[in-house]
Amino acid sequence: MSNSLFADASRRLEKALKYVSISEDASLRLKYPKASIRVSIPVRMDDGSLRVFQGYRVRYDDTRGPGKGGVRFHPNVSIDEVQSLAFWMTFKCALLNLPFGGAKGGITLNPKELSKSELERLSRGYIDAIADFIGPDIDILAPDVYTNAMIMGWMMDQYSIIKRRISPGVVTGKPLTMGGSQGRDSATAMGAFYAINTILPKFDRIPEKTTIAVQGFGNVGSILAELLSKAGYKVVAVSDSQGGIYAEVGLDIPSIRQYKNKQNGMKAIYCKGSVCNIVEHKVISNADLLALDVDVLIPAALENQITADNAHDVKANFIFELANGPITSDADAILESKGIYVFPDILLNAGGVTVSYFEWVQNRSGLYWTLNEVNQKLKEKMVEETQNTWAISQDLSVSMRTAAYIHALNRLGEAMDAKGTRDYYLKKV
Ligand code: GLU
Repeated sequence: MSNSLFADASRRLEKALKYVSISEDASLRLKYPKASIRVSIPVRMDDGSLRVFQGYRVRYDDTRGPGKGGVRFHPNVSIDEVQSLAFWMTFKCALLNLPFGGAKGGITLNPKELSKSELERLSRGYIDAIADFIGPDIDILAPDVYTNAMIMGWMMDQYSIIKRRISPGVVTGKPLTMGGSQGRDSATAMGAFYAINTILPKFDRIPEKTTIAVQGFGNVGSILAELLSKAGYKVVAVSDSQGGIYAEVGLDIPSIRQYKNKQNGMKAIYCKGSVCNIVEHKVISNADLLALDVDVLIPAALENQITADNAHDVKANFIFELANGPITSDADAILESKGIYVFPDILLNAGGVTVSYFEWVQNRSGLYWTLNEVNQKLKEKMVEETQNTWAISQDLSVSMRTAAYIHALNRLGEAMDAKGTRDYYLKKV
């Protein structure tokens, strides 16, 4: 059994395929990425030396529309990871009924080691290398781990320079002044917040009596922690790549966020009471956080965090996946046997790409929406598809993950089969 990330991701597809009646042709096609590109990006460093970085873009499927997905800057980026992330984007976009296929990109590097101007040259160099592979009607980029609005702005600008026309629709998550959308920054967290508020009442859970631990304090984890704590939930633990903090009575998340943003450093969450008004806390590791006795666990960092090795230690009743792929397929089985409800990444973190879609629509029409309009439309989509996925899981007695794949597969299969199936061609007219 291969232990690559992609092999593990494919196991979820295999499981869901048993419940759908899409053609064999469609299920065969979904097992392979449509196109992949690997590029070398030479970058002049500030000290005059030259470094060559490895970059990737995978367009997994574009039957339902142009490829769509973020670009990740991280030391662990590999073709296996990018392909898996593109695979997840395919199902995520279909699940939310967005007119997009799935894609993803990445560059292998530690972005914290590069100066801002080196990062700019790298971002522009990446676009120089993949410009013929992307486009507003081909494949649209967006932020992901360690990329942000500024980087998206550089990428859009570089593409526009190459094509000699302003092309805002090639990248989403841009700065507002360059055609970005209101609400894109907070969209992933906001979408999850709407989904969580749709799900927890089904279990008669009320915010004041629900304790939460969040792994990952980046754009997604920190905003969601703040939304949840403002809504009355008790966020008792948060962590970043350096480690975490825990306080039984709950943490003052807005102060921690403010302090972290000011310090712009990963260690900022370790601030002491007088600095940011947080209550007395215990310093914990990321492993401790995953095993805390809380009601809700939210992995919002990277993939492969809950595996067969530590799934037995999880004590939470509900897991909401905000990261892509934080739980391995063998861990899924262990969590299920413990009666833990897992709500999958392709649903829970889909708010980001949903507002990316809104941004792309605004770029193409030239008419821009207010924050209220964006959030209202996001809420409608998230609530609707959360309810649909829930109904499938109840009807077929399957996990929410399998239900989400079934729902997405039905849409993908229908689109693929519209171009003709074996039965269609063999039938005599
Ligand atoms: N990187 C985000 C994700 O994994 C957003 C992708 C997008 O907006 O295209 O869903």
